[in-house]
Amino acid sequence: MTFNSPQASFRKPVYLDYAATTPVAPQVAAKMAECLTLEGNFANPASRSHLFGWQAEEAVENARAQIANLIGADTREVVWTSGATEANNLALKGVAENYRTQHSTGGHIVISAIEHKAVLDPAAWLEQKGFSVTRLLPNHEGIITPENVESALRDNTFLVSIMQVNNELGGINDIKSLSEICKPRGILFHSDAAQSVGKTAVDVKNLGVDLLSISAHKFYGPKGVGALYVRRASDVKIAAQIHGGGHERNMRSGTLATHQCVGMGEAAELAQAEMSNDAERISQLRELLWHGIADLPNVKRNSGCAKSVSGILNVTFANNGAQGFDGEMLLLSLRDLAVSSGSACNSASMSPSYVLKAIGLNDTQAQASLRFSVGRYTTREEIEFAVEHIRGTVTKLLRTSS
Ligand SMILES: *Cc1c(COP(=O)(O)O)cnc(C)c1O
Repeated sequence: MTFNSPQASFRKPVYLDYAATTPVAPQVAAKMAECLTLEGNFANPASRSHLFGWQAEEAVENARAQIANLIGADTREVVWTSGATEANNLALKGVAENYRTQHSTGGHIVISAIEHKAVLDPAAWLEQKGFSVTRLLPNHEGIITPENVESALRDNTFLVSIMQVNNELGGINDIKSLSEICKPRGILFHSDAAQSVGKTAVDVKNLGVDLLSISAHKFYGPKGVGALYVRRASDVKIAAQIHGGGHERNMRSGTLATHQCVGMGEAAELAQAEMSNDAERISQLRELLWHGIADLPNVKRNSGCAKSVSGILNVTFANNGAQGFDGEMLLLSLRDLAVSSGSACNSASMSPSYVLKAIGLNDTQAQASLRFSVGRYTTREEIEFAVEHIRGTVTKLLRTSS
C-alpha cells in the first residue's frame, strides 16, 4: 500500500465543512491552555478543601454563565455533557426513564425523520425497550410544521424532540410554534440545537423549550464538550444516565473538564459578540458560492429558500435524476475542497442520505449532492477558488459521462 505523505507541492484543501466541525478560535484555545498545567487552573472543580479547587470551580461556573447568557437561561439550567450526542441521549432517555418510573409503562415519543443520528438512535433504542416512536416527515424544504406535530400527538405522548436546524440542509424550524402545541398538553419539548446555537439568536424562554442540546465544537469551541439546557420546573425531570458522585445536580456525574468548559464558555461569549457580523459575512460568501455554480447543468439547491442558518449550502449536481452522473466520483474529483457528501459511508457501499431522501430526492440525486458549509474563517478568495474548481470538475465529469 502506498501512502502519499504531504509533499512540498502539497496544498491543503479549502475547508468548507464547518457544519461538521469548526476549528477552535485562537482566543478560545488560549483560555483553554491556561487550565491545564501546574502553573494554570488545573484542579478538580469539585475539590472543596483548597484554593486550587475553588479557582477551578469559579472558572467552570463562569463558563456556565457564559453559556446560560448565550441562550437566555439561568445558570442552574445548564448541565455539562461531553457534547450534543450525550445531551440528546440524556434528554430522551432521561425523560423516558422518568416517565416509565411514574407510569410503569412506555409512552409515546414524537421526533422528526431527519433528526441527527444522536436523536434517531436513542429513540430507536427506547422503541426496543417498549416505547412508541413517531418519526415525522418534513416538507420538501426540510421543515416540520405545527400541523405535522399536532396530528401525531396521542394521549400518552410525553416527549416531542425536533431539531432547530438540520445539519445537512440548514433550514430553521419554527420551534416556538411547535413547542406551543405541546405545552398546554403537558408534553415536554426537546430541541437539538447543535447547528443553531452560536450562529443564530437562541432564547430558550422565547422558544418555549424544556430541554435543548448544545455542542461547543459547532461554534469554534473544543470537541468533547456540550451542554443540556434543563428548564427549572417541577415537571421537567430527567433521570441520570451516568452515575458516579452526583455532579451536576445529580443529572450527570463525572469530574468536569475545566479546560473544556472554559473553552465552551469563551466560545459562547465570542459567538454572541460576533454573531451578527459572522452571519452577514457568511451568508454573503454562501450566496457567492451558489451564484458561481447555479448555472451548471442540472444543478439544484436543496437547502431551500426557507429561513436558514447562514453557513450551509446543499446542492445536487444531477437534478435530472438520471443515472450516469457519479456522485462519489464528483466528491473524489473535488480533491481541493473539504466538503461533505449526500451519502454516508457504510462498510461496503455509499448509502444515500436519509435527510435528502426525506425531502424528496431519489437515490441518484441524493448521491450526487454535496453540502458546502462556510464559516467564520472562510475568505472570499477561498470561495472564488471553490467556484472555479467545482465548475472545472463538473464540466469535465459531464464530458466524460456523455
Ligand atoms: C454535530 C451534531 C450533533 C452531535 O454533536 P457532538 O457534540 O459531536 O456529539 C448532534 N446534532 C446535530 C444537529 C449536530 O449537528
